[in-house]
Amino acid sequence: MQRNDLFMIKQRLVKKGDMIVPSIKQKAEAWLFQNIETLRLYRDSTIYFPLVGFADEPKIYISLSNQELEIGYIKDIWYSPCSPEPTKYRKHVMYMTDHLSVEDQTEQILGLLLKTIQSRKRQYRSCLFCGIKVNPEHRYDKDTCHGCATYHYGIKY
Ligand SMILES: [Zn+2]
Repeated sequence: MQRNDLFMIKQRLVKKGDMIVPSIKQKAEAWLFQNIETLRLYRDSTIYFPLVGFADEPKIYISLSNQELEIGYIKDIWYSPCSPEPTKYRKHVMYMTDHLSVEDQTEQILGLLLKTIQSRKRQYRSCLFCGIKVNPEHRYDKDTCHGCATYHYGIKY
């Protein structure tokens, strides 16, 4: 992505301070534009993009360490039955070089970010009983959340 493309995006976002609700793509673009500096300036840094307004607002992350740029999402891993541990789950990796910097590859990074957002959103299903959108880590089966599985099927964890 060229510098003036980034400038255009910024202009577009500044202009819409009104009632228009930005799409997820516009939100992701704006967030990336505002936060990508962090990756460049700080060693081994991670930036998080929460999907505000969607289900339990899952987080997508981008981290850069040793010229390896990683894009993925945060998922809960159950090391013990009562305490899930939020853990990075990597979906895509890109290799940065001195010739191909984070700034030069903003457009590609945005593409992978959007793919990651879509794939994480697709994992959510509405629980048959309570109707809440739940991720696979918090479901007993494809359409029952943990709480409802305990209540309706007597499943104990
Ligand atoms: Zn439920």
